[in-house]
Amino acid sequence: MEKTTLDIKFLGTCACDFSPRLENEYKDCFDLNERRSSAILINGQYLIDAGMHILDSLRIAEIDSDTVTDIFVTHTHSDHFDAFNIERLAKNRKIPLRVWIREDARVPEIKNAEYKRMTPYVKYEAADGVFITGVLANHDIESAPQHLIAEINGKKLFYGCDGAWFLTETFNYIKGAEYDITVLDATVGDYLGDYRMGEHNSIPMLRVMLPSLKTERIITDKTKVIFSHIAPSLHKPHADIVKAAEEMGAIAAYDGMELSI
Ligand SMILES: [Zn+2]
Ligand SMILES: [Zn+2]
Repeated sequence: MEKTTLDIKFLGTCACDFSPRLENEYKDCFDLNERRSSAILINGQYLIDAGMHILDSLRIAEIDSDTVTDIFVTHTHSDHFDAFNIERLAKNRKIPLRVWIREDARVPEIKNAEYKRMTPYVKYEAADGVFITGVLANHDIESAPQHLIAEINGKKLFYGCDGAWFLTETFNYIKGAEYDITVLDATVGDYLGDYRMGEHNSIPMLRVMLPSLKTERIITDKTKVIFSHIAPSLHKPHADIVKAAEEMGAIAAYDGMELSI
């Protein structure tokens, strides 16, 4: 039977400050503070981002990489886009792996992969009933950053990593969208004075943002708001992030977290 849900698996939830512990240790010694490069898998088939840990993340989640048909890339920073790993994912395919990326991203050719160049604010049909739109993000401009809107089976996901606040044109574009799931950048912890406010969110910034997102019906009381792209070195332990998120009606992501709506 055809799938009618939107299922998400968080394969990685980290910013760039990776734990020195890697791979197998994650499985034997599961620790919610250990995070790999941020990526999610939608309906077992559509990957958002494929950074330096993606092969391990898929292996640990016991996902056959051949089931991935499309990668939607937020930007070209190495924790989100790793050409070598994507080439490994694309290996031995009859149908090329589709890699959706902003039209002006500077990226190398990848064997067995086909780039789908995206113009911001244009909606593309990736498959039957699967739509993807990139909207401009406030992040390092050299990395061709975009937030992603995925519409699958009539459900709507906003994926906002990486980026601080919202650019005006993006905010105007998403007004009234009432997303079912909204994933937001939460790189920086619960303190004031961090220098990254022009590229990443902090917990205090999210406290300011969420009520305004509600005012403009970008999120509603029904929206699952998820904090991800979390830098362990800038945060307290996971349990404290969970508490801070809960106070805002949000959820703190961890590697392996699953969600279905
Ligand atoms: Zn990042
Ligand atoms: Zn980045």
